[in-house]
Amino acid sequence: MAWLVLYLFIFLFGLIIGSFLNCVIYRLEKEEKLTGRSYCPHCKKTLNWKYLIPIFSFLFLWGRCGFCKKKISIQYPLVEILTALIFVIIFNIFLASNLIYLVFLFYITSALIVILVYDLKYYLIPDTVLFPAIFIVFFYRLFENIFIFQSTSGILHFVNYIGAGLIASGFFLLIFLISKGNWMGFGDVKLAILLGLILGLPNILVGLFLAFFFGAIIGIILMLFNKKGLKSEIPFAPFLILGTFTALFWGQEIINWYTHFLIY
Ligand SMILES: [Zn+2]
Repeated sequence: MAWLVLYLFIFLFGLIIGSFLNCVIYRLEKEEKLTGRSYCPHCKKTLNWKYLIPIFSFLFLWGRCGFCKKKISIQYPLVEILTALIFVIIFNIFLASNLIYLVFLFYITSALIVILVYDLKYYLIPDTVLFPAIFIVFFYRLFENIFIFQSTSGILHFVNYIGAGLIASGFFLLIFLISKGNWMGFGDVKLAILLGLILGLPNILVGLFLAFFFGAIIGIILMLFNKKGLKSEIPFAPFLILGTFTALFWGQEIINWYTHFLIY
């Protein structure tokens, strides 16, 4: 029972962070400050607490603004639920590790969700979110290993993450240069550094493979429904980020399953 309360607490915490991320995405595009009260993007009326409860406000208002009755984007509840679900998965998988690692993963999740939604909406990866994230993950990997840095294993562990970032980024840089930026944006080249630093080797390979796999499935579905032609642009960062989350949570299982599959 106590566990259930704890999980519920993490879920609610994720909803609130998700609500904040929606605000970050909106204000990043409008180049507004993060401070200041929330308001309706249509009628600009300031929203009081009744209209700011994640999910519930959306449901009670039937997805419309309480003042002008204009539709609220489905992005708002979706981002809140996605953030909450990933927080719960992180809590469930990494419960045994230390609190700093949990906070680190919550931060990484938040940054990646902002990048995912932003790229999906505006076909752009915001450097103001990406660069601090690369900086923080780099120093986390450095300090994580600093106590065992006297040993070879500590150095190797750190080099592993740096190597993963360089390999992933180099791979996308190659695609970027060969296609003259047509198949892949330069934002993806920069994003790959972050994803490599998060996953390390060999997990980054799982993440990249999954990204292309997800991308192919969605691409085929969109073509079947004639939504997008072969030449139309589909942002790739969302797939990279979904691949990264999957590899972060179940990468080892996927590798085990795959090697088992190869042997038998
Ligand atoms: Zn309104």
